[in-house]
Parts: sequence; structure tokens; C-alpha cells
Amino acid sequence: MSALPSTEALVAGIQSWVLCESPSNSPEGIKQMAALVEAHARAAGLRTEVTSLGDATGPLLYITNRAADDTRPGVLVLGHLDTVHPIGTLQDNPCRIEGDRLYGPGTYDMKAGIYLALSAMATLAQPGSSQLPIDFLLVPDEETGSHASRASIERYAANAKYGLVCEPARPDGGSCVTARKGTGMLRLNVKGRPAHAGMQHEKGRSAIREMAHQVLALEAMTDYDRGVTVSVGTIAGGTVTNTVPAQCRCVVDFRVPDMGAAEDVLRRMRNLCAVGPDVELDIDVELNRPPMVRTDAAVALLERAQSFAREAGFDLAEAPMTGGGSDANFTSAMGVPTLDGLGADGNGAHTLNEYILISTLETRVKFWELLLRQLA
Ligand SMILES: [Zn+2]
Repeated sequence: MSALPSTEALVAGIQSWVLCESPSNSPEGIKQMAALVEAHARAAGLRTEVTSLGDATGPLLYITNRAADDTRPGVLVLGHLDTVHPIGTLQDNPCRIEGDRLYGPGTYDMKAGIYLALSAMATLAQPGSSQLPIDFLLVPDEETGSHASRASIERYAANAKYGLVCEPARPDGGSCVTARKGTGMLRLNVKGRPAHAGMQHEKGRSAIREMAHQVLALEAMTDYDRGVTVSVGTIAGGTVTNTVPAQCRCVVDFRVPDMGAAEDVLRRMRNLCAVGPDVELDIDVELNRPPMVRTDAAVALLERAQSFAREAGFDLAEAPMTGGGSDANFTSAMGVPTLDGLGADGNGAHTLNEYILISTLETRVKFWELLLRQLA
């Protein structure tokens, strides 16, 4: 078994990945990123497989230490190759060290997280060196909803005993995630009737007026006590000021803590009715990520992880349920006990101030090594 890398080696490796910009909308950038990760895995003796998901997105990268004939349910590690930062962000947020911080687009979310997990897995390349076979799946489109990779995630999850996700550790001191809200989207189109706003106002049926009613009805579905939020995120309607508008559309984000709440919200959204006469609503609503629920099995996994963290030299706390979704939602919804937020310590996800804390890397990589080797 090879040794875990030093802090200096971890920093250098993470920097080399951050310098490869890989926004979700750049299949080419993600391909290059996948090639870097794959080269690292292969150099360690791990088996890899790159799969195209079409031209619109980057490829899927799979890394394993399974013996070819080993079909046991394993440990599924999930990461994403994409970032939210457009090509060129390195000019505004250069990859640099300031004190204990390593800055750069995608450092915290989640290139350092992947680097830690893969560095630990690299010491377990020999089949049988971990209690369970390890399957590491890296997707190209998590930041935009994992639409192209969801089916692959679920296929691997079907043969997983545990799910471990490399999303960043929470900025509150590095806690991990056992529960995430489900996330959904509603697209609403209102069709009214156009008319000259001066000469035939009474003949018009304003789609914007109708939409105003619907916006209030939608936002009224928010229930903070229950953990349900509904937010009309974008809206557009009308053509010119002197025509009663015949069209208006909006896109709505909603979050739910459990499937019961999800079904309630979906039903209420599908049953939205027009308030005014002679207008039509076209409703398209879906739950994109089901809720990640804190099950007993997830708590048992958390407790194992907490003991490994203590052995590695830190206390792993549990964060309260978060409103943000991740690929952990998919594995959890399939009944695979899943822990998330196991990536790097830092802060500033999705901003130009994104950074990781260098002094935490060595204990974190040790933690990953214990998890991957000893989970059984
Ligand atoms: Zn992420």
C-alpha cells in the first residue's frame, strides 16, 4: 500500500486541477478535467472507464478497485467534474495561496473534495485492499441538475451498500450532510388574448394580470414551519406597452423536506386554476431531485464516519438539513445510506471568494482512507 500524500503534494495536485477550468457548459473543459482525474487514477493502478453522454455535455468518468469478477455491492463515491464558474474566471479569482487558504474557482466545490477521495482510493488500488469494492463515479453536469448522468448514478447506486459524496464540508467548521431537501421546478405559461390597449381594452385578456394572481398563489405555498419553499425565479411577458399582453411565462423553484410534502406541492401546482376568464394555464412541473431523508441507516453510517474522523484527528459534526440538492438525493432516494459534505473544508461555494483550508487537507485525506478501507 502506498502512503497518503503530504499537504504539499495535495495542494500541488489540487492546484493543477483548478487550473483546468471546467464549467458545466464546456464539454471540452470537462473532457480535459476528466482526463486529468483519469490519469491520476491510472497512475495509481486503478481501473477507469470514460463514457460519452452526448455532445451537449462532458463525459462520465468511472474509477474502481474492483476485481473484474467482484459483483458485491460496494461503496459508491460520487463527485462532479463541473463547476459553476465560466471559462476565464481564473482571471478574477486566480488560483493562489493566501495564508491557510487556497483560492480558485472550483477549489471548494468540489475539486479538492474529489482530490482527497481519489488520493485515498489510490492507496487502495489493489483489489481486496478495502473491505468493500469501491466505485467512484464522476459526473459532468451536477451543477445543472445531473439530467444527463442521473440514470448512470442510479445504475451504480443499485449495486451500492453505501453512498459517499464529495460535496464540500459545511463552512460551519466542516460538518457533513445527512439530509437535503428535494428540489423541483415549475414552468408556467399563461395564454391570454391580445387587444389594442387603447381602442379595445375590454376585449383583451391580460396574461400578465393572470400571472400576477398565479405568482401570489404559488408563493403562498411556502411553509417555513414545514420546510417548504416556493420561489418564482424568472418571469417574462408581453410584447409592447400598447397591446394587452397575450403571453406570460415564469419559472419557479421549489424545495421540499420529504416525499409527503413533495406530493402535496406537486398536486397543488398541477391543480392551479385560472382566476380570470378566457385565459389558459399551461403547467409543467417536476421534482428534479427527491429529498435526501435522514434514515436510521444513514445515522448508523454517520456514526461510523464520526469514529473514523476521530481516529484521523477531527470531530465530524452533522449539519442541519440543507435546502441545496446534490447527487446524494438520488442515491438516498434509492434506499442507499448516504453521507454528503465529505469534501474539503473551506467556504465561498459558487462565488469568486471560493477557497479551501490547507491545514485541514491531511486529516481529511486520512479520514477518507479510513472510510474507504474499513467500511464494511
Ligand atoms: Zn458541488
